[in-house]
Amino acid sequence: MLVLGIETSCDETSVALVEDNAIVENLVYSQIETHRVFGGVVPEIAAREHLKRLPILFLELIQKTNVKLEDVDGIAVTKGPGLIGALLVGVSFAKGLALRYGKPLVGVNHIEGHIFANYLAYPELKPPFIVLMVSGGHTLILKVETTEEFTIIGRSVDDAVGEAFDKIARLLGLGYPGGPEIDKVAKLGNPQAFQFPRPKFHDDDYDFSFSGLKTAVLYEIQRLRKGRLSDTDKLPQEIVADLAASAQEAMIDVLVHKVTKAARDHGIEKIVIAGGVAANSRLRERLKETAGFEFFLPPLELCSDNAAMIARVGVELLKKGHSDDLKLEPEPNFFEMLKSGTSKIS
Ligand code: ATP
Ligand code: MG
Ligand code: FE
Repeated sequence: MLVLGIETSCDETSVALVEDNAIVENLVYSQIETHRVFGGVVPEIAAREHLKRLPILFLELIQKTNVKLEDVDGIAVTKGPGLIGALLVGVSFAKGLALRYGKPLVGVNHIEGHIFANYLAYPELKPPFIVLMVSGGHTLILKVETTEEFTIIGRSVDDAVGEAFDKIARLLGLGYPGGPEIDKVAKLGNPQAFQFPRPKFHDDDYDFSFSGLKTAVLYEIQRLRKGRLSDTDKLPQEIVADLAASAQEAMIDVLVHKVTKAARDHGIEKIVIAGGVAANSRLRERLKETAGFEFFLPPLELCSDNAAMIARVGVELLKKGHSDDLKLEPEPNFFEMLKSGTSKIS
């Protein structure tokens, strides 16, 4: 089954063609450079950029692959979660194509997409498995029983881990997006230099809390500045590296502990990592050192937002006979989506 995927939920414009488990082509245009001067994604600008880039990227996909829309079995588009204006661009574009070519249309949950990136990377992967879903907007632990049944067993009670990376990077005067910046400078630092809190580490659940860590880093910076540096002085590079490495280690300690606890408690050996933070090199290294489980991590290009993962969910849904009509509407909120989603996420 050949499916066209469209992704515009945040700051990546992407179109892809996926045939069952194989990526025919996956084109991603990242808007990072546009948003960098603002230090974060500006929703209105993101929507306008999608509007400008999506048709160009779509034509490029058609030219590169020589695939005609007539030969496609369906169109899968991110329905949410994400920025409403950004989502609207993708959903409207997908509706237009579906109407023009008389193709089935299916709205996809972006978070399910991140998980399904692993089926593209590991075609032999089969449930049951435990998922650690770590991205800019979400931090979840899920138990996946079948390709369509997910149970959320843990979540962040405040900030998502990607959000914590981005906010801490900003405190340290590092660039945007903060995750990759912290990853890079942390390599030069000592992860034991500062003892930051590991919130909820000892709680008997699978939930997370990351907002306190950001405050702890802020207090540490204020303490270091006291008497030594003026408010405008830059922190010395070695200290920034130590702070980044120590904060990163604190987050990773909790992630690794909670996901392995979830797997152990549920008698499951397979652990799937999904979402933008799955690209973190220290997390990948730490998982490699963790014995007793089989870890699945997507290649870097499938960790961040892309349309191939959306098309792959589309293959699954369309094969099972699910589709949406032209009334399909974007839904910005993940938990709202669960109430009306095609998959049984509970
Ligand atoms: P969601 O998927 O929850 O809707 P999103 O699509 O914005 O949110 P993703 O694109 O999946 O999120 O991931 C982006 C996040 O991943 C950002 O917060 C970014 O800082 C983080 N990130 C990317 N690379 C790394 C890295 N190497 N280390 C840590 N974090 C990273
Ligand atoms: Mg992004
Ligand atoms: Fe994402």
